[in-house]
Amino acid sequence: MSIKDNLIQIKESLPQNVTLVAVSKTKPLSDIQEAYDAGQRIFGENKVQEMTDKWELLPKDIEWHMIGHLQRNKVKYMASFVSLVHGVDSLRLLKEINKRAKQNDRIIPCLLQVHIAEEESKFGFDEKELMDLISSGTLDSLENIDIQGLMGMATFTENTQQIKKEFKSLTNLFNRIKTKLPGLKELSMGMSGDYDIAIGEGSTMVRLGSSIFGSRN
Ligand SMILES: *Cc1c(COP(=O)(O)O)cnc(C)c1O
Repeated sequence: MSIKDNLIQIKESLPQNVTLVAVSKTKPLSDIQEAYDAGQRIFGENKVQEMTDKWELLPKDIEWHMIGHLQRNKVKYMASFVSLVHGVDSLRLLKEINKRAKQNDRIIPCLLQVHIAEEESKFGFDEKELMDLISSGTLDSLENIDIQGLMGMATFTENTQQIKKEFKSLTNLFNRIKTKLPGLKELSMGMSGDYDIAIGEGSTMVRLGSSIFGSRN
């Protein structure tokens, strides 16, 4: 199936309140242009250099989401144009994003990444760290950051019960945090292999790569 056909089929299956982020990492400009021509406007990348190169060459009404682990020294390269940063996992990184947003005279929307998977390797705050950050009041002083929600990745496993349990725990945390940060609206969870489960558990944003563009090398 073509990229266009994949997109049409996926969009038909998504509830209306769920935003589709087309994850175009490693994919050529021509693939992104094909998705763009089929109406897709939100694309996700996990490397700043690659995202910046693509931003320069592609239509300017594309919204670029940084979905990967982000290093502080790279923030400056994307601060002028990034639409949403999904993987914010430390206060130091938030402060750097705030600083670069201010220099660009804008507010950068961010999601806080929460560690929900069993695997050690996945980045993110744990529940206590997140609660401490929120009750510290530090976020209020970051005037050029707009915390819009949370992001999480489930364990890479065939065990759907486990995936479900992990997404459920993130939704739970999201609902509890919303009472303290009423501006929270986005829950970014779900990739090609598990987005149906994520949507069942309340995802508002799915990040799909291979199911749109085919497998990556
Ligand atoms: C690569 C990636 C995705 C998309 O993965 P697929 O399995 O191809 O859908 C989603 N989220 C993050 C953080 C990624 O790095």
